[in-house]
Amino acid sequence: MKKIIFSFFVIFCLQTNLVLSQYKTTDCPVIPTPASYVASSETFDISDKTLQINRTNLPKEIEKYLVKNLKDAFSIQTIISDNSGEVIFKPQKNVPENSYSIDIRESVITISYSNEASCFYAINSFLQLIQKNDVGYYINLGFLMDYPKFEWRGLHLDVSRHFYSVDEVKHFIDLMALYKFNTFHWHLTDDQGWRIEIKQFPKLTEIGAWRDSTLIGHYNEEPRKYEHKRVGGFYTQEQIKDVVAYAQKRFISVIPEIEMPGHSRAALAAYPEYSCTGIKQGVPGIWGIFDDIYCSKPETISFLQKILDEVIPLFPSPYVHIGGDEAPKTRWHTCPRCQKVIKENGLKDEHELQSYFIRQMDVYLTAKGKKLIGWDEILEGGLSPNATVMSWRGSDGGIEAAKQNHDVVMSPNGYCYFDHYQSGNTGEPLAIGGFLPLEKVYQFNPVPEQLSADQRRHILGGQANLWTEYISTMEKLEYMTYPRALALSQSLWCDNTKKPDYETFKKIFIKYQMPFLDRYKVNYSKAIFYAKMEITPNKQGLALRFKGAEPTDSFYVTSFNTDLQKNIDSVVMKSNDSLVLTRENDFPMTIEYTVTPYNNVSGINHFSIEQSHSIGFPIEFKTPFNPKFSNRGNLALVDGVKGKRPWKGDEWLGFTKDTIEFTVDLIKTRQLQNVNLGFLSANGSWIYLPETVQLFVSTDKTSWSELKKQAVTEETFFQEVNKKARYLKVVVISKDKIPVGSDGEGNKPWTFMDEIEIEYE
Ligand SMILES: [Zn+2]
Repeated sequence: MKKIIFSFFVIFCLQTNLVLSQYKTTDCPVIPTPASYVASSETFDISDKTLQINRTNLPKEIEKYLVKNLKDAFSIQTIISDNSGEVIFKPQKNVPENSYSIDIRESVITISYSNEASCFYAINSFLQLIQKNDVGYYINLGFLMDYPKFEWRGLHLDVSRHFYSVDEVKHFIDLMALYKFNTFHWHLTDDQGWRIEIKQFPKLTEIGAWRDSTLIGHYNEEPRKYEHKRVGGFYTQEQIKDVVAYAQKRFISVIPEIEMPGHSRAALAAYPEYSCTGIKQGVPGIWGIFDDIYCSKPETISFLQKILDEVIPLFPSPYVHIGGDEAPKTRWHTCPRCQKVIKENGLKDEHELQSYFIRQMDVYLTAKGKKLIGWDEILEGGLSPNATVMSWRGSDGGIEAAKQNHDVVMSPNGYCYFDHYQSGNTGEPLAIGGFLPLEKVYQFNPVPEQLSADQRRHILGGQANLWTEYISTMEKLEYMTYPRALALSQSLWCDNTKKPDYETFKKIFIKYQMPFLDRYKVNYSKAIFYAKMEITPNKQGLALRFKGAEPTDSFYVTSFNTDLQKNIDSVVMKSNDSLVLTRENDFPMTIEYTVTPYNNVSGINHFSIEQSHSIGFPIEFKTPFNPKFSNRGNLALVDGVKGKRPWKGDEWLGFTKDTIEFTVDLIKTRQLQNVNLGFLSANGSWIYLPETVQLFVSTDKTSWSELKKQAVTEETFFQEVNKKARYLKVVVISKDKIPVGSDGEGNKPWTFMDEIEIEYE
């Protein structure tokens, strides 16, 4: 493949008589980064804000798109002609699929392309190459050649938890097109709303598309609050066709998702006869996983197949997503009809029943010329023969499916869940939880190293998911999606070994992509500009540094002693300056830092530090913390930053083990007094308080004496320990399983800790 691409590049160069040495390799304004780009400081000028475009070989719809974007985003007028033009188009034969090039000379720009899709990709790169100066616009002379790495470059949108209108969905698709995404996964049904008209079953939208209340605030908050207002909506089949056609003109394929057998409360509110109990319940206004799912009896299978009959003709895409995730088997256990299906088909248990259920859909879709795709739970109980797996609970499901020779789309929640928090900033809007900063998205590689070359061929690409429990407006949807979608586009379009490093990407984003997104009035997150606090241990305690998006940033830092209600200091700090917090001399106190970027546009951030006597003490973890929740690693429990409640995804240290053990080194033998340990309770996120904590002390790290065991509360305080110790060992015993009747019942609970504060004389 490399050779083909190389010779393709040479052909382009020869055809255009390009003297490459004129141009230098340089950072390219275009995201995703093209396969190759060279440019000079000389320019093609658009100073009169008018471009003459030759329409020969320019597909009609793409011409409309180009004219509209130049006008709306740049106020550049276009003159379309048949004979001449400053921008000309050339179809290419015998070049790789989806490849294109842009050759920018002083008087003419030549766009060569292999097919209509790549002509469209070229147009989107072309738009990003246009830069503004005092008189108008210009493009640097140069040459760009490009083609995509993965065939599935997706974004998903959940329109069930919050409904988005046809115009809003089109806007979401418009933004996707700018970054060469080609797959829109439309999550049309879920517990909280059925969003697609099905003519045979009108109650699905008459009843299932509407709910009487919606949870406001976070699910974990007690008591829960609701907005009691009837909300909802759905798309008629004509509207669906309209959106699909709209996306098609942007070379984006739309994949419908009809969830089954779980996440089906909205459908069952309309047709309770297809549940196990037959009991009529309303459309829920709260999030989560519900026990009531579709019954696996033949009538339900037939009901769902009739729904698919109406869905299939609306979507030209080869794929139909059937969900398959988060389906509790509680009802199936006790339902005589489900048990009958198990018996009649010689199934082992309810997991095999789920597999049987999905297989009925697989056979049906395959017969209709479609391919089934589902979340990675469809592996449980055996994967259906033609199924493609979308791996969301990490990469393991995807790896397993590829090993079984099934196709895979990677969407691991650690890299691709854009409903998670993207920064720890004070003003970050409410999100479901989790922590996914831009930099982490940038590290995403859809191809797991564990796979052989043969198995890797099954990785179709990747996708980010926008679950909308906590995203109720277009403005917030843009905020959660951008700029993370730019980082994702790099992982899906570029060859992972060749894409620029994160620092370069960040520079390109700030210099070129922010102004570009501003042209489209996108409400993207500016989280990278907020100061981050970097904490490192030093001999005396901790060293603090505030860091911005660029190493040259400086900050105005005001510190405030909250105990004395008094300002301590106001200084300007450069990125590498450090403040030192000592544990020996200063009495314990809480200091708040207000950090304002000194030389750029972004907002104020607040940090709070508990300057306790134990900051910076070395800690050894016998039990490893989970890498997903390991902000600041070994330092997390003694970094002076207490995990905030409610949880915002970072700060806390997370574990999934029954017993958690770690040792704190007090550096020298000291007379211990009090010890306090913070725990998080956020049951909706399966984070539970453990059962007990026990302390042990030692002067030599070999012989330990036990102190009393205590039941755990959010702040577990050991008072008047009064022991001499150099080392303190902490043993935490968690619940082995989440109790029945609680969120996540039967699963292993998470234990989240932060911070340990040790007082001594
Ligand atoms: Zn049943």
